[in-house]
Amino acid sequence: MTGLCADERAPGMTAPMRRSRDVPVLVAAARDGDPRAVARLVSLVEDGDPCLPELAAALAPHTGSAQLIGLTGSPGVGKSTLTNELVRAYRAQGLRVGVLAVDPSSPFTGGAILGDRVRMQDHATDPGVYIRSMSSRGHLGGLAGSTPQAVRVLEGAGCDVVLIETVGVGQAEVEVASLADTTLVLLAPGMGDAIQAVKAGILEVADVFVLNKADRDGIDAAARDIQGMIALGSRAPGQWRPLVVRTVAARAEGVEDVIAGIAKHRAFLQEHGQLTARRERRARVEVEEIALASLRVRIEAVRQGTALPELAAEVAAGRLDPYAAAATLLASLNP
Ligand code: GDP
Repeated sequence: MTGLCADERAPGMTAPMRRSRDVPVLVAAARDGDPRAVARLVSLVEDGDPCLPELAAALAPHTGSAQLIGLTGSPGVGKSTLTNELVRAYRAQGLRVGVLAVDPSSPFTGGAILGDRVRMQDHATDPGVYIRSMSSRGHLGGLAGSTPQAVRVLEGAGCDVVLIETVGVGQAEVEVASLADTTLVLLAPGMGDAIQAVKAGILEVADVFVLNKADRDGIDAAARDIQGMIALGSRAPGQWRPLVVRTVAARAEGVEDVIAGIAKHRAFLQEHGQLTARRERRARVEVEEIALASLRVRIEAVRQGTALPELAAEVAAGRLDPYAAAATLLASLNP
């Protein structure tokens, strides 16, 4: 039965096998703009479905050209509000837009958390917009492994721009946001964000700092803080210097400056041959995560099998040295 998933676990997948599904049909439907097919494909990614290798193969020819924009910042800083405005602005340019709201810790299923939120309603009926929230429940590669796959789904579905919104400012979020072509870091006055940003290594990944809630007191002090941090950061020649843009996302003010900042950064990357380098770095992380996840599955199988206890008994009895035993064990990892 060509086109159906094999009834087995693929490397790196933990979710139990469910019924087979026709990946090419789903991909074709997604490419035709069927939002349910897109949602279904993102769910497969989220669950670490055994179909993923086949899905990735089906999507590969249709990926690689979308512009990926990462957005990160503390809860409440205005990410959702700004995302909403960015979607509106890109739609006005006639571009198709995908939004992935990534929550590393969320136990909820995709779509449920943000589906109810008011901002989602703004674009709910626009066929040129896909909005999905995502956790990484079943994906052994974690978010670093699953987010690129979900991005591939959105790219495959014809999105020109994909906004990846991560919730929080921890290491995982920063990592995911930094996989984008351009990473926006949102800060707001009075949130202690500047200190947090340094801690989380955000300075290194921010291409554009968005100082949101510019209508609030303390915006000038926050701007000084962040400019000071940028000035202190070491930067090699030919390296991008992060921009600082002020916004009042709630009133859609400054959004065009953010869009311009993103475009400027993209032009810089292209000019310096860094766009390809970024994409290669991203692919490297992706491949590495998949390979590591696959190894973890095999190591777990070894743990639960009889090879290790048998080898251990040999080592304990002095009949085998531990290096030889480890080599035998490693050799058994190869399929
Ligand atoms: P997120 O948690 O980072 O996604 O933040 P939200 O986008 O949900 O925004 C949190 C709150 O801040 C909401 O009540 C927004 O209306 C409000 N907000 C967003 N942008 C601004 C702004 O520029 N100024 C002010 N005063 N409030 C804002």
